[in-house]
Amino acid sequence: MGNALTAIIAGGGLGGLATAAALARTGWDVTVYERQNELRATGSGIYIWENGLKVLEALGACDKASDGAFQGTHFEQRDNQNQIIESAAIPAGRRLITTERSQLLASLRDAALDAGARIMTGTEVIGATPRGELQFSSGATARADLAIGADGVWSKVRQALGLEQVHEQSLEGALRTMIPAMKDDIPAADASKYIENWNGTRRLLITPVNDRVTYLALTCPSTDLKAKNTTVDKGLWSAAFPQWAHLIERIGREVSWGVYSVIKCRAWSSGRTVILGDAAHAQPPNLGQGGGMAMQNGLALATALWGITTQQQIPDALEKWEQEEREIVEHCQKWSTLYGEVTFLPDDVRATVIKSAMANPWVANQIFRAANHIPTGFETFAASTTS
Ligand SMILES: Cc1cc2nc3c(=O)[nH]c(=O)nc-3n(C[C@H](O)[C@H](O)[C@H](O)COP(=O)(O)OP(=O)(O)OC[C@H]3O[C@@H](n4cnc5c(N)ncnc54)[C@H](O)[C@@H]3O)c2cc1C
Repeated sequence: MGNALTAIIAGGGLGGLATAAALARTGWDVTVYERQNELRATGSGIYIWENGLKVLEALGACDKASDGAFQGTHFEQRDNQNQIIESAAIPAGRRLITTERSQLLASLRDAALDAGARIMTGTEVIGATPRGELQFSSGATARADLAIGADGVWSKVRQALGLEQVHEQSLEGALRTMIPAMKDDIPAADASKYIENWNGTRRLLITPVNDRVTYLALTCPSTDLKAKNTTVDKGLWSAAFPQWAHLIERIGREVSWGVYSVIKCRAWSSGRTVILGDAAHAQPPNLGQGGGMAMQNGLALATALWGITTQQQIPDALEKWEQEEREIVEHCQKWSTLYGEVTFLPDDVRATVIKSAMANPWVANQIFRAANHIPTGFETFAASTTS
């Protein structure tokens, strides 16, 4: 590693670890600084679409991330009468799996460590400069050829570089939890589905994760004070979704509430310091792609920097990377935000809108474009993983 270019990364989440693994595999000397005392995933289960699976394959992390994971065959929306609005088959070439976030994070951690990256926990970044520097709460500073802010929605790196253009928070938010999975929880005919149930502005998303746990997301506007209570009002939610009362009844104390952020930046880098993942382009979770975009962008960044031998070449490579990747990320952000608008439609109008939108091939293409996207670097990295 003596002559290797060096990268320092703020944040050991999905974006930071995928970037660390990808850069380290191409010969960079990489150190990740994570604020928490251990790498810990917030949230419960996570959807990973074809594009995210390809990134994991390219990094050699896919088997671990998807071991025992649920792979659904249909994504279904139901109305307030438990009638199917739309049940879209998920084609074999556009895989979708759901796994535990902790499992996904561990697979990326292992990929990063196996590639030679170092991970320092309990280290909070409080600032950055365009000269590849990160500043820590301890008063220390680290310098490298490249600094990366993958420090999430409230990114200190983004703030320090003055890159933020828009940070909007949604009216809608989600209670997220895992419940123990039981044999007859979901009728056999529905067992291979992801089921999104609507009732007014309340939604219950049922996501099998593996044979141990099922992920429930209960979404509503943040003004719906009773529904958003983290001591879940089981009576209220069961009244809205009586067919799933047996699942709601099993919700325990571990429930988190959060609204969603949309972040847009005037640029993704300044000098030799770059931001990616939620720090640069957070999006609502309606398409299940925020994590996919973070990992995909990390792989693309390492691809853009592959073969570079001097610090001076870095800013141009960062600019080129942004030019190539920004469009797909912003497309996904836009359509994920648009999908969220159906929350505020009356039930019958929502059903009509979903039905006709999904029947329209152009709309379906827009929604699944990110899932169908082949991540930059996939082929090159995948070839080097298997060789
Ligand atoms: C309700 C909900 C459901 C979602 N579902 C999905 C889904 O199904 N599929 C999907 O792909 N995406 C989903 N997402 C989006 C996904 O969670 C994010 O896009 C993804 O986690 C972004 O990864 P990241 O690494 O950029 O940021 P994060 O995951 O937020 O990681 C940032 C890391 O940086 C650390 N950190 C923060 N500040 C500092 C600091 N100052 N110094 C050092 N370290 C710091 C944090 O502790 C954390 O470890 C969902 C989001 C929400 C809100």
